[in-house]
Amino acid sequence: MDPAAIASAVVAHYATVRRDLPWRRTRDPYAIWVSEIMLQQTRVQTVIPYWERWMQKFPTVTALARAPLDDVLAAWAGLGYYSRARNLHTGAQTVATRWSGVLPSGASELRAVPGIGPYTAGAIASIAFGERAPLVDGNVARVLARIYGITDEIKSTPGQRALWLRAGELMTALPAGDRPGDLNQGLMELGASLCAKASPRCLVCPLAAHCVAARTGTQADLPVVARRKKESELPILSRAALWLFTRGKLVLVRRRPEGLFGGLWELPQGESVLEIARAFGVTRFDQKPIAHHDQTLTHRRLRISVFCGEMPARLVEAPDPSYDAIIRVSLLEARKLGVAAATIAILTKYEDTPWSSTPKHSVSSPKVTRRSSKVSRTSASTSKTKTSRTPRGARRRASTS
Ligand code: SF4
Repeated sequence: MDPAAIASAVVAHYATVRRDLPWRRTRDPYAIWVSEIMLQQTRVQTVIPYWERWMQKFPTVTALARAPLDDVLAAWAGLGYYSRARNLHTGAQTVATRWSGVLPSGASELRAVPGIGPYTAGAIASIAFGERAPLVDGNVARVLARIYGITDEIKSTPGQRALWLRAGELMTALPAGDRPGDLNQGLMELGASLCAKASPRCLVCPLAAHCVAARTGTQADLPVVARRKKESELPILSRAALWLFTRGKLVLVRRRPEGLFGGLWELPQGESVLEIARAFGVTRFDQKPIAHHDQTLTHRRLRISVFCGEMPARLVEAPDPSYDAIIRVSLLEARKLGVAAATIAILTKYEDTPWSSTPKHSVSSPKVTRRSSKVSRTSASTSKTKTSRTPRGARRRASTS
């Protein structure tokens, strides 16, 4: 294995396939930081317009730091995984106060910024500052595991150690004159194209002569990845959501910034429709759901049942410790806010096939209570969603009152 030859081959290959992307036309570390965070979990073509709008709206670290979280989440709306936007915002505020709005230039200093981990620090330091800082993401891990025949599970401690060691070796061996950022981006590009998970194209790969997996025919066995639980094996978390929609205005509540889905707007949620109706001072509501939303998270499946309620004359403000704000907005206005993916899916379902927003059931003498919501203590990330409407025949008037 000749790390210098491998590094050179990667850089030379990158020069032939490098795409002209807007964040590649700048060395502004903030712009590169934003692009790297957006590109996590999201395709390049989707990111481009978001990145361009973001850089117009928040052109500097200081501009982002000063913006209200609501504006930041609204600019992120549609990209999903909102914790990325919240972390960017928190990181910008730290840079604004601790480094006067100027991102530090070394990978190790960058890691002191909240939300910047080893991968992002390596990307910013190598691309913006030309530092010989390695990085490992999923694509780079696949390429390195195959080239070097790394058989440790890639997310395990020994696997991570081996991958970062090899990435560091390549960076150290990079010939003078070659750009560290090109090596990192070249490895990522290889992993995203030629060295794909299934059917790697070894015959045209510039690293074939150096690659253990290609030589031994073990491409399908590498990298070693821990088996993920099947969807059917995940536990189900059931939640109730209240649909309060009158004269074109819908009630949404905002999660406190510190928890899961922090800062995002959603339909009022609770463990049961009765609990949530009482908490919000709603006296008339259906006991049969009008729609369901199913979402597969990393460690569980979420089922939200949506119940129709009647808008009370006076809504309870701050009814639940999970929330810090409540508003009535049109569906159009709601889409301009940072709204949780589940609520967006429910809005879309309603717009496709509107249901009656008049409840058929009333509860007498409700007591307004202040109860906490378990969902604020869960941790998960979205992968698959499905929203369905309850068939008309399945809805009936509830009899208890
Ligand atoms: S030779 Fe094949 S397995 Fe090895 S890095 Fe290239 S594409 Fe991947």
